[in-house]
Amino acid sequence: MTQTQCPKCSHAEFAEGTDYMRVKPLDKPFGKSSQKIYTFCLGCGEVVSTRIENPAIFRK
Ligand SMILES: [Zn+2]
Repeated sequence: MTQTQCPKCSHAEFAEGTDYMRVKPLDKPFGKSSQKIYTFCLGCGEVVSTRIENPAIFRK
């Protein structure tokens, strides 16, 4: 995914990172889990996007 401009500071460089806190389906606390990936502005640090790395494991 590509962000063109930060909504806060108009900077145009972004990086991706994770906090290694894994997200699990509510009804399967011991099942598979997935990393969250943050996309943030390299100018001001504003997080412009948070996504789940493997959304398919949440499929019923
Ligand atoms: Zn910014």
